[in-house]
Amino acid sequence: MSELDHNLAALAPYLADVGRYGILNHIGGQAVPAASGAWFDTTSPVDDSVIAQVARSNAADVDAAAQAAKAAFPAWRDMAATDRKAILHAIADGIEARAEEIALCECWDTGQALRFMSKAALRGADNFRFFADRAPGARDGQSLPSPTLMNITTRVPLGPVGVITPWNTPFMLSTWKIAPALAAGCTVVHKPAEFSPWTARILMDIAEEAGLPPGVWNLINGLGEEAGKALTQHPAIRAIAFVGESATGSAIMAQGAPTLKRVHFELGGKNPIIVFDDADLEAALDAVIFMIYSLNGERCTSSSRLLVQNTIADEFERKLATRANAIKVGHPLDPATEVGPLIHEVHRAKVMASFDAARAEGAKIAAGGVRIGDTGQFVAPTLFTGATNEMTIAQDEIFGPVLTSIRFATEDDALKIANDTPYGLTGYVWTSDIARAMRFTEELEAGMIWVNSANVRHLPTPFGGMKASGIGRDGGDWSFEFYMEQKHIGIATGDPKIPRLGV
Ligand code: NAD
Repeated sequence: MSELDHNLAALAPYLADVGRYGILNHIGGQAVPAASGAWFDTTSPVDDSVIAQVARSNAADVDAAAQAAKAAFPAWRDMAATDRKAILHAIADGIEARAEEIALCECWDTGQALRFMSKAALRGADNFRFFADRAPGARDGQSLPSPTLMNITTRVPLGPVGVITPWNTPFMLSTWKIAPALAAGCTVVHKPAEFSPWTARILMDIAEEAGLPPGVWNLINGLGEEAGKALTQHPAIRAIAFVGESATGSAIMAQGAPTLKRVHFELGGKNPIIVFDDADLEAALDAVIFMIYSLNGERCTSSSRLLVQNTIADEFERKLATRANAIKVGHPLDPATEVGPLIHEVHRAKVMASFDAARAEGAKIAAGGVRIGDTGQFVAPTLFTGATNEMTIAQDEIFGPVLTSIRFATEDDALKIANDTPYGLTGYVWTSDIARAMRFTEELEAGMIWVNSANVRHLPTPFGGMKASGIGRDGGDWSFEFYMEQKHIGIATGDPKIPRLGV
């Protein structure tokens, strides 16, 4: 039996179960369909088959979930943080125990290659462990004594919060947002993306088995404009942590304005990878390829704009094209596959529209630029060369395995081009000149920059973007700053010299 057949056989029972029961909401500890009885289908990008029916929630379901989160909040907030820590570790244990199932289901639902998804499931467990260990210190503050006051600060959890996640690597991203909210003492209503809702349901089941009290974490499935919108407008929801497109972030800001929602946004990117002629070019080539073609290029931190110095550009682009053409596109459950199908027909059409745009704008398609097969959502890893930064293929987020290469002459040119985009999520700089690296990273408009490295996530470091790429940071203590309120308390230790009025 081939490894692909083995993995398909392993997936079959999970597929049968989800097909039988559908993907339900989870409100106040109960798995429930939408109150209206409405459903929508989720399909696999491998062959467009229906995986399951998904509860299609509306404002009434969101209200029930928000009320459940509100009711559960006082007890969760007041639970000993060491007990919360134990529950979060139990969730991590559950993720590890079901990591294979999570990876298989995620690949079938999203089209992501198994070679990356098995690690992503375990990263989800790491996220819970990291924030579990920080839970006991989450409320710690400072003492700031003045001559007449002992000033202390403390942090308190905000209350019920909404978490809205996108369809790319949905399992990992959900854990990344939900684990710190729970560790901080908040309760949660989660709305996963409609294109890939399966593993959020598995995660919910794991949390319940781990002993999470009812109502602390609620799951609402549905469409963005319906369930998502209602969540951002709900008065009991104190904050929205959102990962998705920049335009959706704007809409959420407007929707949340009447209830003064606190928002945390991780949005789109058009991230530059800058390769100078003094770089280790073989390592740079590996990084350029990995950062755009892994995870199908459906990755916010992907290096979708290559800025390559004129002096090395011909050979660098030639090698890139050769490697892009050799990337193994195939079934996501085949361990040999490097690039799987795109999430959905709608998204494939958007990615393929960039092929037409490249031609119309006068760029060259040096690799790919075509659909593969006529079943499923497969496209060939694509390289555009001869591009300028004004072209839409250099400005718009394509969010697929599509790289736009732009040439530059000098360091100043490179910086100007790199910053000439509405986005500012990540940047990657390849050079052997440390002084140049320091100068360049100072000026580069990006929330996260790696020098001579691909994106390697270290959980205590701040994650987030500038400009249209986001508001706020995740990771380490930054997550708690979002999910918690800072409180100042001043206690008189001497005469506070209060002016006496009316005497
Ligand atoms: P999207 O904005 O279309 O949808 C994201 C989520 O928002 C979904 O759950 C959707 O149902 C919901 N939604 C849509 N409209 C809404 C509304 N009006 N009110 C409330 N919720 C609404 O994004 P997507 O296409 O699912 O994901 C891809 C995008 O996510 C890309 O732009 C990518 O760069 C971005 N992303 C960013 C990061 C980051 O860390 N910066 C990480 C992953 C993905």
